[in-house]
Amino acid sequence: MDLGIKGRKAIICASSKGLGKACAMTLAQDGVHVFINGRTEEVLEKTAQEIRDVTEAQVTCVAGDVTTALGREKLLAACPDPDILINNAGGPPAGNFRDWDRETWIKALDANMLTQIELIKAVVDGMIARKFGRIVNITSGSVKAPIEILGLSNGARSGLTGFCAGIARSTVKDNVTINGLMPGPFETDRIAEIIAAEAKAKNITIEQARKGRMAANPAGRFGRPEELGAACGWLCSQYGGFVTGQNILLDGGSFPGTL
Ligand code: NAP
Repeated sequence: MDLGIKGRKAIICASSKGLGKACAMTLAQDGVHVFINGRTEEVLEKTAQEIRDVTEAQVTCVAGDVTTALGREKLLAACPDPDILINNAGGPPAGNFRDWDRETWIKALDANMLTQIELIKAVVDGMIARKFGRIVNITSGSVKAPIEILGLSNGARSGLTGFCAGIARSTVKDNVTINGLMPGPFETDRIAEIIAAEAKAKNITIEQARKGRMAANPAGRFGRPEELGAACGWLCSQYGGFVTGQNILLDGGSFPGTL
């Protein structure tokens, strides 16, 4: 399907690997000029080359920490007038809520709520003026089905989701949509780290932990990053203009509810 967004510009935060990279790849395949980001410059450059090797899109690297004001300034200086903003960042650590002090909470809120809100604030009025904008937040299935040990993630990402629900109806008449993608388990470095920690805690092999997790999912597997990338591509496409304030769960059917 032609997404109808060739020549548009997209900032994709935290996109040198994993889910962000998959979103960048999908958009680049459709001819979008992608501005990719990550803290590790060499990994970022390698990803840019990978995207250039398989697409004809322009790829611009913006190295930096998106959760800092400087990192966001660099992204906005490179692309002050994006048509598309994919909000993404690393997830906060797991733990016991009794151990989290104010500083821990502020860090999580900064990384998974306030950073995204700052970027939306910086780009949304330009999108409204140009009558096209697509904003997608990569959050987590834990927004819909909270996981006890991921309290920092549950809290910060729910805050972002609630904030966006409040503004998404005010921008859509100008063809600017704001939506969320809520991933369940996907094959990325992040899930590999979680599995390694689980294997260590349970004194089992990594393969046993992996198989156990996969068996617990109705799909019997983890998601493939390109599956999330394709969902992102659709939300960002010319056909996405009638969808706003929504949060799409990509979890292989784990969430057992009707809606
Ligand atoms: P990943 O494979 O570990 O990739 C994370 C990417 O983000 C890397 O390119 C990393 O590069 C970059 N990054 C991390 N922190 C950054 C920062 N502060 N500034 C700029 N770039 C940053 O992770 P993922 O699986 O794609 O996860 C993406 C998001 O989805 C995370 O918030 C994660 O918690 C959430 N999520 C993932 C899953 C899953 O199963 N994979 C499930 C639910 C939610 P550098 O390290 O070089 O900066």
